[in-house]
Amino acid sequence: MDSREIEADLTEVLVTEQQIRDKLAELARRIEADYEGRDLLLVGVLKGAVMVMADLARELKPHVNMDWMAVSSYGAGTTSSGVVKILKDLDSDLSGRDVLIVEDIIDSGLTLSWLTANLASRGAASIEICALLRKPDAAKVEIDVKYLGFDIPNQFVVGYGLDFAERYRNLRDVAILAPHVYS
Ligand code: IMP
Ligand code: MG
Repeated sequence: MDSREIEADLTEVLVTEQQIRDKLAELARRIEADYEGRDLLLVGVLKGAVMVMADLARELKPHVNMDWMAVSSYGAGTTSSGVVKILKDLDSDLSGRDVLIVEDIIDSGLTLSWLTANLASRGAASIEICALLRKPDAAKVEIDVKYLGFDIPNQFVVGYGLDFAERYRNLRDVAILAPHVYS
């Protein structure tokens, strides 16, 4: 789905498909260097991180493992509840693994703060975070994100995996959703 075909639903395109591609290539080079000679397990958070995971993983040159978790923190609304529930757990045993959590966006930070603690309790050798987007003005807890794509304003965005009521995930860019769509 292209931004120009749903122009009326969007206030502004914040990050284009090309900017995302370039940024993921840059992050992949750093990740390759940092994890040289180690077996990396990428943990994607469903469903929002599907696009980041797919593009980041393919950009990485060495072998990686991929696993998925589904957690709920939002329901159909546009603000974080802070209540995290595991809807689907990992298939992998984390003991001794180098884990890189792959996320679409850090908003309040509550999901990742909970997830990092949860994964740490399973005996991983290391846990780091890669997030495509972050809203610094929305932070309720500080998240130590090692690989960050873009800081964006505190507005509700859709596209590249991010949804509003399960729509817009297949938009190629990241854009601010026009308030008339959700209010
Ligand atoms: P947090 O717990 O507040 O950091 O929110 C984390 C999750 O909420 C993200 O992984 C997204 O799935 C969702 N989310 C946060 N902000 C947005 C947004 O602007 N658009 C769509 N989903 C969002
Ligand atoms: Mg998410």
